[in-house]
Amino acid sequence: MAIPQTQTAATVPKLGGGVVFDNNYPVPKPGQNEVLAKVLYSGVCQSDLHTQAGIASGHDGKPIVNIKLPHVGGHEGVGRIVSLGPGVDEDIKVGRFVGIRFASRICRRCEFCLAGTEQYCTKSTNHLHHEDGSFQEYIALDAGYLTLLPDDIDPVTIGPVLCAGLTTYKAVKNANVRAGHTVVVVGAGGGLGHLAVQYALAQGAIVIGVDGGSEKGDFIRSLGATHYIDFTTTDVVGKVVELTNGVGANAVVVTAGNVKAFVLAADMLKVGGTLSCVGIPPEKGFLETPISRIVIKGLHITGNLVGSLKECLEAVDLVRRGVVKPKVVVRPFEDLPAVYEELERGDITGRIVLKIAKDE
Ligand SMILES: [Zn+2]
Ligand SMILES: [Zn+2]
Repeated sequence: MAIPQTQTAATVPKLGGGVVFDNNYPVPKPGQNEVLAKVLYSGVCQSDLHTQAGIASGHDGKPIVNIKLPHVGGHEGVGRIVSLGPGVDEDIKVGRFVGIRFASRICRRCEFCLAGTEQYCTKSTNHLHHEDGSFQEYIALDAGYLTLLPDDIDPVTIGPVLCAGLTTYKAVKNANVRAGHTVVVVGAGGGLGHLAVQYALAQGAIVIGVDGGSEKGDFIRSLGATHYIDFTTTDVVGKVVELTNGVGANAVVVTAGNVKAFVLAADMLKVGGTLSCVGIPPEKGFLETPISRIVIKGLHITGNLVGSLKECLEAVDLVRRGVVKPKVVVRPFEDLPAVYEELERGDITGRIVLKIAKDE
């Protein structure tokens, strides 16, 4: 296969300045121990939206602005290896499916890498702030930290699993969800939420989905959620307490990306319950749960940044085996600016996946 010198990339020359499609963007050359992959499909994540707009929150609640420019987003990509740089191990072959995830490179030596929590690696780089992501036709990837995907995956639906799926799989895991537990998923109809519902169901949980409108309700029930609460018409906390016979839920997983969804989330928890924070609102937000409640009810509050590569492959495997089914709508690559607008309005049910490669 001939590899071109230039390609189409969705660039953001200036944060907040919008997407510019560059048809003469250079195709990277795979360096030492790197592979070159052709990008087939890529999901569009809320973090892409917030990063290109210059409003993504860092750990201090302030916007992350130290970002490589031009910015090329995309960290839910599925590609196919088309060439190998020097020094790549023999078991990595041209033709294999690879994932383009948030994490791009890690040090393999720091305490987090050694503990299998390499998403917190102190020297890591990622496909959001440091390196070009999957909103381009070709990408060079570190063969030493490669997300090699099984051959029998569906490249159309697996992209969203690499960020949204992994994150929610991990959120459910962090909340120690077991069979018979009640789990509330806030934002249950969205890209993250619809996967959180299914990963919780896969653990045997009784799931209460929270979102807005009757269309989202139908969708959330179709995923297998036992109850749906429409926050536009119903007092969510009161309803959860009622549905759980006055005791509250074992876990609340908040996947919505706005502050309001978090404020009262811990008020729905049962004694010993866990609030699992997943979405990252662009503004500085605060929980309004009284400290006394956290102490007296023995609550746990946990956060969650994607997950490790191993956990990613576990999340992928549940999809590969048909236990969890991402709901995706495929759109052409050129639709990215329109998709950002729809994400902004919260109009999207499930996940939108862009078809990046024209001929595959
Ligand atoms: Zn993401
Ligand atoms: Zn490290």
